[in-house]
Amino acid sequence: MGGWLLWRLRPAAIAHVLCVQAVALVLIALVVATSRDPRPQDLLSFVMLAATSGTVIVVTSVSINVKRQIRRNPWTLHIAYLATGILVLPPNLLVLLLLGPTLHGVLDGRPELHRWLFTTAATTIATLSARFAIGWAEPSWGAVQFVLAGAVLLLVRAFLVAIGIRLRNPEAPRQHVLGEPIDVLLGIVAASLGGLLAVAMSYEPTSALLAGPPMVLLDLAGQLPQWRRSAQHDPKTGLANVAHWERLARTELTRAQTRGQAVSLLVLDLDHFKRVNDEIGHLAGDTVLAAVAMMLRSSVRREDVVGRFGGEEFVVLLPATGADLACAVADRIRRSTAALSVPARDTGGELREIDDLTVSIGVATTTRFGYQLTDLLIAADAALLAAKSAGRNAVTLA
Ligand code: GH3
Ligand code: MG
Ligand code: MG
Repeated sequence: MGGWLLWRLRPAAIAHVLCVQAVALVLIALVVATSRDPRPQDLLSFVMLAATSGTVIVVTSVSINVKRQIRRNPWTLHIAYLATGILVLPPNLLVLLLLGPTLHGVLDGRPELHRWLFTTAATTIATLSARFAIGWAEPSWGAVQFVLAGAVLLLVRAFLVAIGIRLRNPEAPRQHVLGEPIDVLLGIVAASLGGLLAVAMSYEPTSALLAGPPMVLLDLAGQLPQWRRSAQHDPKTGLANVAHWERLARTELTRAQTRGQAVSLLVLDLDHFKRVNDEIGHLAGDTVLAAVAMMLRSSVRREDVVGRFGGEEFVVLLPATGADLACAVADRIRRSTAALSVPARDTGGELREIDDLTVSIGVATTTRFGYQLTDLLIAADAALLAAKSAGRNAVTLA
C-alpha cells in the first residue's frame, strides 16, 4: 500500500507528518466531544454543501477519466467548500465536511496515499484554526472576519505543507515549497468563492446548488498550473523545453543588456550517445538523460537557466558571468559528467552501471557576440563542433 512509502522519508519528515496527523486527530476528537448538537438549519446547510461538493467532484472526476486528462489538483475545490463551512457550519459538521477530501484521496487511488492524508491533516488543522480565529461556537461575521478566516485557512495550510516539503527534500526549489503564483492565486479565488457561497447560504441554504457550475469552472482552473508546467517542461528530464528556455533566456539577456552585464551560454552535447541506445537500450538512454539533467541543475546556480535543447543536447544560460567563469563552470560540468555512474536496466532486464559518459561543451559570451540569443547560439554551437573535432570530452570557447 502506498501509505508505507512514508517510512522511506527522512526521520524529521516522518516526525512532522506524524505530528501533524496526531494534532489533527486530537482536534477532531475535541470537536466531537465538545460541540453542541447541530440545529435543523445547520443540517440543511451541511447536506446542501456536501451534496453540491460531492456532485461536482464526481462529475469532474468522471469527465477527467473519460478524457484521460492529466491528474488534477482537487484541493482548490475543497478549499472553497471548507471556506464556506468555516462560516456557516458548527465545528462538528465542519469536521464531517473534512471527510470529503479524505475519501477523495482513498477512492482516487492516490499513489502516495500518505501525502494525501498528510495534506488532509494539515488542511484540518488550518480549517479548525480559521474557525477558532473568527469564533468557535458562533462565528462573528464581517469584512474583517471573512478576510481573517480565508487568510488563516490558506496560510496555516501553506505553512504546514511547506515545512513538510522542506523536511522531505531540503533542496526543493522555492516554487515547490511555497507554490507558484498561480497556485497562490487559485487558493485565494477558492477561499473568496467559498466566502461568497457562505453569504448566499446564510440567506438561503439551497443556494449551494447554484455554486455547482462555478465550482466546476474552478476545478478546471485548478488544472491550469499542471497544464502550464507540462507545456513548458520536457517530460523526460523535467528541464525547461526549448521554447520555454528561449523565452526565459531572451528575458535574461534583455535584463543583462540594460544593466550592462556579461552573460554566457553553454551548449552541451553528450558524446557518442547513440552507443548507449544501441548497446544498452533506449530506456537506459532516457535514464541517462534524466541523470545528466539532474547533475546539470545541481552544478549551476539557482538563477542559471537550464534547458533541454533537443535529443541529447542541453543549454545553460549563465547571467552575470564572463568567459573565464563560464569556461570554469563548463569544465566542472564536463568533469561531473565523466564522474557520473547511472544505474539502468538493459534490454535484457539486467541492472547495469553506465559510467563511461562524456560531454562536449561550446561556450559563447555576450562580450564577443552581443545580446541576441540566436547569435550566441550559433557561436556556442560552432564552438561545440570544434570541441567534437578536437576529440570530444572537451570545452571550447567561441
Ligand atoms: P556525438 O559524439 O557526435 O554527439 O555522437 P552521438 O552518438 O551522441 O550523436 P548523434 O547525433 O549521432 O546521436 C544522438 C543520439 O541521441 C541519437 C538518438 O537516438 C539519441 N536520442 C535523442 N533523443 C533521445 C531521447 O529522448 N532518448 C534517447 N534514449 N535517445 C535519444
Ligand atoms: Mg546531438
Ligand atoms: Mg551527441
